[in-house]
Amino acid sequence: QGTLMKGKKGLVMGVANDRSIAWGIASAVAAQGGELAFTYQGEALGKRVQPLAESVGSSLVLPCDVTDDAAIDAAFATIEKEWGELDFVVHAIGWADKQFLRGRYVDTPREAFLKALDISCYSFTAVAQRASKLMKNGGSLLTLSYLGAERVMPHYNVMGIAKAALEASVRYMATDLGRDGIRVNAISAGPIKTLAANGIGDFRYILKWNQYNSPLERNVALEEVGGAGLYMVSDLSSGVTGEVHHVDCGYHVVGMKNPTAPDI
Ligand code: NAD
Repeated sequence: QGTLMKGKKGLVMGVANDRSIAWGIASAVAAQGGELAFTYQGEALGKRVQPLAESVGSSLVLPCDVTDDAAIDAAFATIEKEWGELDFVVHAIGWADKQFLRGRYVDTPREAFLKALDISCYSFTAVAQRASKLMKNGGSLLTLSYLGAERVMPHYNVMGIAKAALEASVRYMATDLGRDGIRVNAISAGPIKTLAANGIGDFRYILKWNQYNSPLERNVALEEVGGAGLYMVSDLSSGVTGEVHHVDCGYHVVGMKNPTAPDI
């Protein structure tokens, strides 16, 4: 057990199970003595999150569907009552109707677009509004993105547009909140097999492609995104804000297929 996060209190949003990126970051932070609260979406996931939270000594486990302002208000009201202050938030939430995570982006209907952008982008802003009020000694807000924000990835479609907007919101909020000592960053993670990833068409192919073509010639592990998340919410990254940090075994620098990679 380390002490890097001793005395720090943070909220982790987006744990669905022990393969969630949110859980990878929570585990790394808890192992460094950080105190955690969790939010979950819906009672079914709540039953999964409760024992995970208990395993890291957390008893603040709250429902929060991020499409509902009243639910976000209620979660932060409870945190204010219990803790009075907050040092960091991990926002690891994204969603798009999987019917539109295949085929062409150009065919996305308005409703599907708005819902994907609401959950996957605006929710981070809504959370920042509430969280920043509790960050009296500064703080760190962290979200999760993907390379599909910067380049066209097959099937990622409307999520790519949502992540591009999310990354832009990181830069705007970093500027808005910087004078209060609040840092805002994103981790752009390589593909990891999670519940959310299951919705993306041909995800196994994407995993293989990244494994063969990334500079490290493998996929990133949940624990590695956890370690980068720990850095972003800790004081080790005190000079870093507005950043989109790639944790993808280097895949984002590659311009062409690895000529020695086997066919998939
Ligand atoms: P996951 O399924 O474990 O987590 C996604 C979470 O979003 C779930 O806990 C789900 O309950 C939550 N969520 C969805 N809609 C919500 C709503 N309306 N209100 C509250 N919560 C809601 O999958 P994950 O891969 O750990 O995803 C976490 C984040 O990481 C997402 O933003 C995802 O886009 C991003 N990401 C994932 C990968 C990957 O390959 N898995 C790569 C890069 C970025």
